[in-house]
Order: sequence, then structure tokens, then C-alpha cells
Amino acid sequence: MAITPHPDDIDLPPLAAIHARIARAAALASRKAEEIILIAISKTKPAEVITPLIVQGQRVFGENRVQEAQSKWPALVEAHSDIRLHLVGQLQSNKAEDAVRLFDAIHSLDRPSLVAALARAMDKVGRQVPLFVQVNIGEEAQKGGCALADVPTLLAQARAANLPLAGLMCVPPVGIEAAPFFALLGKMAADNGLSGLSMGMSDDFETAVMLGATHVRVGSALFGQREG
Ligand SMILES: *Cc1c(COP(=O)(O)O)cnc(C)c1O
Repeated sequence: MAITPHPDDIDLPPLAAIHARIARAAALASRKAEEIILIAISKTKPAEVITPLIVQGQRVFGENRVQEAQSKWPALVEAHSDIRLHLVGQLQSNKAEDAVRLFDAIHSLDRPSLVAALARAMDKVGRQVPLFVQVNIGEEAQKGGCALADVPTLLAQARAANLPLAGLMCVPPVGIEAAPFFALLGKMAADNGLSGLSMGMSDDFETAVMLGATHVRVGSALFGQREG
């Protein structure tokens, strides 16, 4: 459920509006806005649409497909070496090495076979990429993510493989209030000694910020609706 934007924020350009809304939500929760990383989700968007956001100062972007990111980002990163790319979509084990080369964080560790593939890839590439374990927080059959009951085991496997764990990530069920799911993810992270919380999208990022999100993933509110 979206929080109605403050009247002062409505006429701002999209990037400034999102920052203002994050700042208001952070202030309500006595948090510092600088603690919250805005990931601009640029999936399906071409370079011409992304570049203006880079020019406005946005540096952290998210994609959901390895191949699409490989075709779009190397040229953009060459021009702006401080860009950081996050993978927020499902990752196939045979793409783990490509993902470790291109991305600076991966939000979709969701199964033991991927622990093994990512450990091998990081070893081979010589690069440690922070990982979020994606949790199927609403226990939805069609959704990606690790089942709630399997999270402790998956975390133990990742720790045993010396993978760099950043935190937990979730995409709550559509059409119902997200707050209880964000709160549950926050509790699971705290119970498991993890500080990162990747949660909140265009419709609910302020709620996520109030409930402790460290990374919000905002696409359509920045870039406009996606086709299809
Ligand atoms: C597409 C996507 C987002 C952004 O969604 P919006 O509703 O457009 O903000 C965030 N997280 C993940 C995992 C996504 O696939």
C-alpha cells in the first residue's frame, strides 16, 4: 500500500522525489537517509533512458537478467567507473560466473546449488560479491526465494562456503499490505545476525524504510511503467 507523497514532493523530478520521500520516511523512523541505498531498477530500459539518471547523480542500478545487463552496462560503466550494479533477478547456476564478473551485489541467493556455484565463481574470478539471501516471505508457490523454514540452513551453507553475506531480500505478495512481511524479514535478519535488508519497491519503499530497509529497489517510480 503506497504512502501518499507529501504535497511538497509531488512536483519534483522523479529522482529528487524518491530521495525526498526516502528522507521523510527515514526521519519518521529516526533513521539517517544516507543509510538507505536507492537501487534504480533499470531492467528493460535502454541506455538513453538510464543516462539522464546517471547525469543527475544516481550511481546504483539494478537489473534482473544477466544477459541484458551484459549488453547494456559495460559501456555505461566505462564512462562512469563509480557505478555499482546489483542483480535482483533469479540467477541460474551456469550464469554465476558472468554475474560475479559484472555485478557488485547479488540479491537472489535462494538455494544450495547456487551457494556452490557462487563460491566456485568467486574463487575463479577472484572477486567477493556481497550476497542477499532472497526469502519467499509470503510462501507463494509461484515466487522465487528460499522457503522460510530453509533460510537457517541456506545461511549456514553460505557461511560454511565463506560467501560474503550482506543480508536478506524479499518481494512480498502483491495486493496486500507489505508491512508485516517487511517486519518479518527484519526479524529474520536480526535473528540471524545480518544487517542488510533489501526490501521496498515503487509502491511500498517508504513503508520498507520505516521498517529498516537498507536497500530499496525502485523501478517504475523512477523510469515510468515498463512495457508488458
Ligand atoms: C522489477 C523489480 C523491482 C522494481 O519494481 P517497481 O515496482 O517497478 O519499482 C524491484 N525488485 C525486483 C526484484 C524487481 O524484479
